[in-house]
Amino acid sequence: MSLEEKFSWEFLKNVADALDSYRIRALIDAKKDILEAGIYDESQYDTILFTMLDEEKLKYSLYNFLKNNSKSNLKTLIEYSEDTSIELNKTLSLLEILKNEKLVDVEELHDKIEGDENNPVKLVFKDFAIEVNDGEISKLKPIYEPVIGNGSIVDTNNCSGCGLCQGICPMDCINISNGFGEIDDTKCIRCGLCYFVCPRSYLPVKILNMSLENTSEIKEYSEIGYYVEVFSARTKIKEIASVCQDGGISSTCLYYLFEQGKINYALGAKMSDDPWRPEPLLIKSKEDIISTAGTKYVNNPNLSLLNDLNENSKTIAVVGVPCQMQALLKSKIYDIAIPSLKNIEYRIGIFCMESFSYESLLKICEKLNVDVKNVKKMDINKGKFFVYTKNGDEFNVPIKEISHLGRKDCEVCFDLTSESADISIGSIGSPSGWNTVIIRTEKGKQLYNELLANKLIESKPISEVKPGLPLLKRIANSKKNNCKNHINKKKEKNKRIPTY
Ligand code: SF4
Ligand code: SF4
Ligand code: SF4
Repeated sequence: MSLEEKFSWEFLKNVADALDSYRIRALIDAKKDILEAGIYDESQYDTILFTMLDEEKLKYSLYNFLKNNSKSNLKTLIEYSEDTSIELNKTLSLLEILKNEKLVDVEELHDKIEGDENNPVKLVFKDFAIEVNDGEISKLKPIYEPVIGNGSIVDTNNCSGCGLCQGICPMDCINISNGFGEIDDTKCIRCGLCYFVCPRSYLPVKILNMSLENTSEIKEYSEIGYYVEVFSARTKIKEIASVCQDGGISSTCLYYLFEQGKINYALGAKMSDDPWRPEPLLIKSKEDIISTAGTKYVNNPNLSLLNDLNENSKTIAVVGVPCQMQALLKSKIYDIAIPSLKNIEYRIGIFCMESFSYESLLKICEKLNVDVKNVKKMDINKGKFFVYTKNGDEFNVPIKEISHLGRKDCEVCFDLTSESADISIGSIGSPSGWNTVIIRTEKGKQLYNELLANKLIESKPISEVKPGLPLLKRIANSKKNNCKNHINKKKEKNKRIPTY
């Protein structure tokens, strides 16, 4: 029996009205159109709708609780969590939404720990000062506009190009390609789901780290986010070693997961027919992995493929850049029962300094006097962009000279090391031919240990290799500082910025 038979549609609309959730009303009103679009079947649609209803009810219950307290702080949130038997992290995530919807103002108060010549000044979280914006909820305008359109995330150079909005849109009306987006306005039902999952609308960075650490202690995290252990490693699988860019660890993870039947699909990137223009790839077997080898510097929206993976009880691994890992972890924390997102078992993150549009990449090749068809490998290392040709020649250009060609939207990106992944992999910190591997979750640790136990990789603690963790942390910190500067400049000009 469908849920519709249990509750009258009128009743549901009344609930949505009572909650003043136009997102829910939009979903209810467009039911027929959504089912016709064919992304979600009726039972999946019902589950999404009712999960969102529950989430909205919870959000407003916290709002009302805060409203009844003249002064709210962390203690108030703890009280609310205890009264409602909700985990504190869940309450904190609801607070983030209320803050983003401008229903509350939240100030973080810190204690300052003075530094010395070796240690910088440190801020330690002390408390929240929460103020409820008075007035009726219905008068406070919601902000769930689509991510594409006038003044939107895409139009204001804040879109990372991750592809998740396309990957979950119930009307299939978004197209993200080459780091840019288009929307079919005639189909959009203004449900705001794209805004809700987008890593560039609001991203509760501390809560992402806390969820990885499985703690409700609010604190500051390191330059590379929360992590358990860091290693330097390389693959022992010959076919992967012969085609991979550095240590081949991400390909080895996928190889093992497919071989053991732990995943049905993986999302990654392969080269399209245009040389060095990547395109999203649905990887179905370990044999497909070879075509994904090598680092790509052009933005690739691989999460856009999720729309094809809503089949229940399939398991997926995603290999992607930091903004994609953020999008996935955010969607895990704000779980609204999107089937494909629930199917994701492993987040395998890749380091990323910045990405380019395809046109910009061609300009870099032009600057180096290299025909893109003749390029064998590209790499960023020691502050330079390297191009290696099939004839064995090497060309390079300082990053500073090509930074104007990077995607504008990447300027507001703070994350070098895929801080929201289960396991993060890159080259910075390890010797040539090796990968730096950051283990962040139990799942990541288990996967790494299984690669070792099956003798698929060689591994050393990062402390035993040069240049090691200090260099990685320094570069990660400089990316964070650059991001801060760009965000401050945008703020000064009253331009839209992501809420981190
Ligand atoms: S950041 Fe990702 S989810 Fe947000 S608009 Fe861009 S492609 Fe869509
Ligand atoms: S574009 Fe966004 S708001 Fe429009 S239908 Fe798709 S998810 Fe909903
Ligand atoms: S720099 Fe950031 S936003 Fe740009 S592609 Fe890399 S991870 Fe995504």
